[in-house]
Amino acid sequence: MELDTSVQFIKGVGERVAALLAKLGVETVEDLIYHFPRRYDDYSKIVKIIEIKPGPVTLSVRVESVHARYARRGLHITEALVKDDSGQLKVVWFNQPYRADALKKNKDYFLSGEFAFQGQKYGIVNPSMELVSAFPKNTARIVPIYPETKGLKSHQIRKLIGVLTPLIKNLPESLPDFVVKDDKLMARADALFNLHFPESAEALERARERLGFEELYEVTLASLLNKQAVQSQSVTPIKFEAKLAKDFVKSLPYQLTDAQRVAAWAIVQDLEKHQPMNRLLEGDVGSGKSVVAAMAILQTAKAGLQTAYMAPTEILARQQFEELSKMLEPFGIKAELFIGALGAAARNKAANNIESGQAQLVVGTHALIEKHPVFANLTLVIIDEQHRFGVNQREKLMGKAKSVPHVLTLTATPIPRSLALTVFGELDISILNQLPPGRKPVITEVANPASRAQLYAKIEAQLKLGRQGYVICPLVDDSDVLGVKSVNEEFKRLNTGAFKHRKIGLLHGQLKSSEKEQVMKRFVGREFDLLVATTVVEVGVNVPNATVILIEGAERFGLAQLHQLRGRVRRSSFQPYCFLMPSTGDVPLKRLQAVAATDDGFKLAEMDLKMRGPGEIYGARQHGELDLRLARLSDTKLIARARSAAAETVQRGVDLLQYPRLSARIANLRKITNLN
Ligand code: ADP
Ligand code: MG
Repeated sequence: MELDTSVQFIKGVGERVAALLAKLGVETVEDLIYHFPRRYDDYSKIVKIIEIKPGPVTLSVRVESVHARYARRGLHITEALVKDDSGQLKVVWFNQPYRADALKKNKDYFLSGEFAFQGQKYGIVNPSMELVSAFPKNTARIVPIYPETKGLKSHQIRKLIGVLTPLIKNLPESLPDFVVKDDKLMARADALFNLHFPESAEALERARERLGFEELYEVTLASLLNKQAVQSQSVTPIKFEAKLAKDFVKSLPYQLTDAQRVAAWAIVQDLEKHQPMNRLLEGDVGSGKSVVAAMAILQTAKAGLQTAYMAPTEILARQQFEELSKMLEPFGIKAELFIGALGAAARNKAANNIESGQAQLVVGTHALIEKHPVFANLTLVIIDEQHRFGVNQREKLMGKAKSVPHVLTLTATPIPRSLALTVFGELDISILNQLPPGRKPVITEVANPASRAQLYAKIEAQLKLGRQGYVICPLVDDSDVLGVKSVNEEFKRLNTGAFKHRKIGLLHGQLKSSEKEQVMKRFVGREFDLLVATTVVEVGVNVPNATVILIEGAERFGLAQLHQLRGRVRRSSFQPYCFLMPSTGDVPLKRLQAVAATDDGFKLAEMDLKMRGPGEIYGARQHGELDLRLARLSDTKLIARARSAAAETVQRGVDLLQYPRLSARIANLRKITNLN
């Protein structure tokens, strides 16, 4: 049997079981080997009947007698009397008629189950039993519990994986030998065997360590190889014009924060190099990323080279276009907006200016990656909220440069350090961890569903001051993919109830992009006091007059997402407020209280990462594909080890093709994690 053999050919798998396995994502032998237990029951310690205490127990017994009968209402009961040299015990199974035939009198069995209070007295109900052997699978061991599906239970999965043990025990190593040796890792074959059938708790721990290490090693290695590939390419260096930078800074109506200064300095230095820049600029909403980007655009333009700035939506593209033009036009830079909504004629005109090199900056949506515009000399690519774009979209835009461009990625999503070191290891990172002076942290409160009236009064107080507010609604259920149902209901409720004297706007994902834009425009123009919206309210949307945000069903959002949502009211010098409303009175509030307690996006992102995994933080697209199943991204020690092993691998120039599994996984990961 080969790893890529279909599970159908495993002894004991027919068409029916194969279909059930497919539901679990298991199609090949290898998939089954990598179908990891989700937890374990420790039934490894065998006790005497006389020593039984409440809790999980394992006995080694001989079956004395077995009786089966039907009780009232079709309930089937199997009873067995078992004994060891310390005493005897009656055990019972309900509705498992096959037990009577399976159990043989006078044979020796392992019996594992829960000794618990059953109605009137302590006993063991529905235990697992199997003949005493050297390799028990369901009893007398640390028993793996698998992700199951209806009709396919863990004991069946154990049996199938049991059939594969000779294969598992002979699997070749998938990591370079020096890594296994230097990091004192368990061999792959041992690790996979022990993950399914742990020989001891220590062996299980070692198995997890090894396989978790391997996952982190793969991701880190992929990202280091990407970095190496980028750095081996050369690019037009852009000489830093100090006077120009000074004049630009002087032209601003404010002083740069230290964080902005440091980030801008790092970027202009990157631009001076012969290798392409690949930098991520991270900063909370309102931290002032645009002006930092503007400084890079200015230097690029003055070198006679072009910048493309791609934003995820038309609203954002327009807003950035206006903001950047305002800052850069006084320096003689011509900018073009390039979005679908412009219409063909205006787009053609813009495209001509870009192609002729008359425009030095173009801000647009993914419209930029279509056949037109063609660039005269695209050299700097800026991507706003990159995780909103697919790998192909990013690649297409970069492909419009004649050689590899410098790339600057902007994001308001705080990336926890552990992710930065693994998944995003190839990036240089600048962080704006400082808001412009005068900004007040958002006052965040967990609201009480029983006292809406008081809450609405607080919101009304803000509206009376001339401020505006958001009401964010979560999805109601699975059928409500776009959140339309819940915003519509909320809109109606507020419009006819507490805020019927106010003008309320409605924004959700089902509106056409032009309609969305219209609603946002009217909100910016203060035609609405309140905006009822799903999470489509863009991360970067700038409505400085909005100072209050109410998030309904707040427990349904991740911590990082809640933080992002409240960022929408952190854009002015007014005191902003955020109210987190749980769906009901009995939702656990600990997470929401954590958001209320800190305004530090990084802290929340770390917490979110621990609770929800990497995908939730950095785009669902990457979640499954990264396939981190055993590695915990909170395990900084293991990350550090994996990272140094990966660096060593690159340094030694190891030929990965010697390790087919590793090289296949690396090839795939390089595509997923590549940001350049
Ligand atoms: P981000 O893109 O990081 O969300 P922006 O670049 O849009 O933030 O900046 C938010 C607002 O803060 C803008 O109106 C901008 O003019 C202003 N701003 C940026 N930097 C500063 C600063 N150092 N001091 C005062 N205001 C600033
Ligand atoms: Mg911005």
